[in-house]
Amino acid sequence: MVTSSEPALSALIPLAEPSVGGNAWNYVRECLDTGWVSSAGAFVDRFERTVAAESGTRRAVAVASGTSALHLALLVAGVEPGDEVLVPALTFVATANAVRHAGAWPVFVDVEPRHLQMDPARLADFLERGCYRRDGVLRNRTTRRRVRAVMPVHLLGHPAPMAPILEAARRDGLVVIEDGAESLGARYRGRPCGSLGDVGCISFNGNKVVTAGGGGMIVTNRDDWADRARYLSTQAKDDPVEGRHGAIGFNYRLTNLQAALGLSQMELLERHVCAKRRICRAYERAFEGMPGVAGIPEAEGAFASRWLSTFLFDEREFGRDRRAIHAALAGRGIESRPLWEPLHRSRAHEGCERVGGEVAEEVCRRALSLPSSPGLTEEQQLRVIEAVRALCAA
Ligand SMILES: *Cc1c(COP(=O)(O)O)cnc(C)c1O
Repeated sequence: MVTSSEPALSALIPLAEPSVGGNAWNYVRECLDTGWVSSAGAFVDRFERTVAAESGTRRAVAVASGTSALHLALLVAGVEPGDEVLVPALTFVATANAVRHAGAWPVFVDVEPRHLQMDPARLADFLERGCYRRDGVLRNRTTRRRVRAVMPVHLLGHPAPMAPILEAARRDGLVVIEDGAESLGARYRGRPCGSLGDVGCISFNGNKVVTAGGGGMIVTNRDDWADRARYLSTQAKDDPVEGRHGAIGFNYRLTNLQAALGLSQMELLERHVCAKRRICRAYERAFEGMPGVAGIPEAEGAFASRWLSTFLFDEREFGRDRRAIHAALAGRGIESRPLWEPLHRSRAHEGCERVGGEVAEEVCRRALSLPSSPGLTEEQQLRVIEAVRALCAA
């Protein structure tokens, strides 16, 4: 008999783990049985068609990760080295990294405190007062760089306020690239996130709403941009036989094996989103009336994927700050996670410009995401809720 003083692995409650099921085994086995395991194959096409249908876009191009999707989206949208791209101050670092991969500069725009999305008022104010136009080119007054694109993120699966963001962007002729890495299944005024701007990017990383093991997708209605993204993602082959290349391309392809898993997960998307929304509602109900705990409500017209159930803890009212809560939960085998360091504070992005950022800092001090896996059982969730309740009472 094996004994251990460590809690059994099954006793740990992870933050967001994949739920593999449905046709995963069948599809992956088909790859293995037929030998189509690499970067060509029927599952890549089927996966792309399914994601395009879900996103309501004409095209979808599968790539190796959400980050590479963002990188290519910036390139096909015409963002050039030295340009500036407006990015929310609160997001996963990959959003800003992709801008740097394209040789451009992120400018960090603060978020609004209620739904934690890029603040459209800050954005409009920056474009109006922080920029000037010369010879038809919009430039940042401080840096004199060309401002080329806005990259809203549907953070935590809540739709960003796209109507005012698009209005501000269109007024100045900026391209709108949606980082929809966390928002597959989310809708804004009935329309899928990722389909509202010029081009959208999705992630199929292991902790996202659905996974391909790893992977990404570019969705757009523009055939020329989709074609260009495909070209760049496959080493920019002009003549594959003669080995001629017309640009500096990338190996950003997704394999048929990953696409097989991804397709099986797309068939479970609705179930996963339902589960995540149910989990979030259960937390919200349990924390109702608990002092110092606030959820993130859905905005009007928004349908959130609720990628992670995130709550804001007020140290004075709740009695502990989010660091202490995080540590106490960890002690009980419950994984939780703060939101990311605001990007204007990031050493990796030192020296970039910012438009505000105080809200992002305050949110970061208070936010903690709780276990949100689609496979989280009621019993597990009860354990999390009891743990939080015990901390509050203490
Ligand atoms: C996960 C994530 C990415 C990156 O996706 P990968 O597939 O991990 O490269 C980009 N932006 C946001 C907001 C994310 O959450």
